[in-house]
Amino acid sequence: MNLIERDRKYIWHPFTPQKNMNAPVAITKAKDSYLFDENGNAYIDAISSWWVNIHGHSNEYIAQKIYDQALQLEHIIFAGFTHEPAVKLAERLLKILPGNFSKIFYSDDGSTSTEVAIKMSIQYWWNVRSTVNGQRSTTKNKLLAFKNSYHGDTFGSMSVSDRSVFTLAFHDILLDVIFIDTPDENNISSIKEEIAKHENSIAAFIYEPLVQGAGGIKMYDAVLLDELLYFIQQKNIICIADEVMTGFGRTGKMFASEYMQTKPDIICLSKGITGGVMALGVTTCSEKIYNAYITDDARKTFFHGHSFTANPLACTAANASLDLFEKNNVLAQIENISAQNIAFAAQLKQLNGIKNVRALGTILAFEIAQGDDVYLNNISQVVTAKALEKGVYIRPLGNTVYIMPPYCITNEELEKVYAVLTEIL
Ligand SMILES: *Cc1c(COP(=O)(O)O)cnc(C)c1O
Repeated sequence: MNLIERDRKYIWHPFTPQKNMNAPVAITKAKDSYLFDENGNAYIDAISSWWVNIHGHSNEYIAQKIYDQALQLEHIIFAGFTHEPAVKLAERLLKILPGNFSKIFYSDDGSTSTEVAIKMSIQYWWNVRSTVNGQRSTTKNKLLAFKNSYHGDTFGSMSVSDRSVFTLAFHDILLDVIFIDTPDENNISSIKEEIAKHENSIAAFIYEPLVQGAGGIKMYDAVLLDELLYFIQQKNIICIADEVMTGFGRTGKMFASEYMQTKPDIICLSKGITGGVMALGVTTCSEKIYNAYITDDARKTFFHGHSFTANPLACTAANASLDLFEKNNVLAQIENISAQNIAFAAQLKQLNGIKNVRALGTILAFEIAQGDDVYLNNISQVVTAKALEKGVYIRPLGNTVYIMPPYCITNEELEKVYAVLTEIL
């Protein structure tokens, strides 16, 4: 059997309908912006392999650091022990994160980083409101989230994600969540009224700042988000910025929260944190939240952790990625992509058959005006197949076509991506 036959026999792939599925592409090698398949075809990875890759594939600097670390200390339990890569990464993150954060809590991926944030904030209210012997629990335990959001696939993170085809089978057992629209000039006052109605029962608000990723790369206004965050914090509700996708330069700044004056109480990070090389989740919190866990009552401990919490190899990859940001002037690369995206967006707006052209930082998206604007719109497969034939890998969300390339992409490669998109349209 060849690789694809063996795969078909034994593997179940994520987010993939199992009936009538296309054979997967067997990738044997990846370098910088390119993926190479077993037949020697090359594809530009225009979506950074599900938005994680930022410095390009098989980066030698990151690889060497991981190799050295693997020979030194590959993994240890993180309760009762510590190590240099985890401490160093925490120090560096706390220095660059927008806002006043006091602690870094490690986990495994984006879903666990938001799961941790949700549990941390619900337990915060329980800790500060229950009596010494832990008897009186709090009713400040509801969550607030945006419609159309995506925060992950575990139960808590799925609960605060929009009720969609992703969550359909679980609707009657998900957590109690109040969903609001993303703000615009017309709805911001009614959103505030809605929040005020529930303010005493809401523990936390979780949001993807400026860009809702998996919900269809929907962008919304920074000034109005800022106003809303200020209002929500005044109501004594914890604000959780899910920067799993937007973190590490995606939106043109190191973190999307830098666009707003009001800073969150908690930030979640993953995806690009290791340069997209290894899985790692981070949840950072303010001192106010952390202080609620400093207590003589052991029952108020944050009882959460994973076997691979703060894996030294993953932390090393993250430190190496931050080194590259400093060494290679990555923010200038990002600025270059942003400028080209804006110019290409202007061209796209002249084309027929597409709508809602938008761009922010390294992200550019639009809808193909065909069929419904839903995830199951199967034009997605057609576009993916056509682009692959022409040497570019993209994976539209339904009829939402987008690019989100690694920052190392060259001008020529980016031109090629634009040309292929134009040709397909
Ligand atoms: C991808 C994503 C997640 C989930 O991260 P995983 O590592 O896939 O579990 C959570 N939030 C946002 C905003 C994401 O884009």
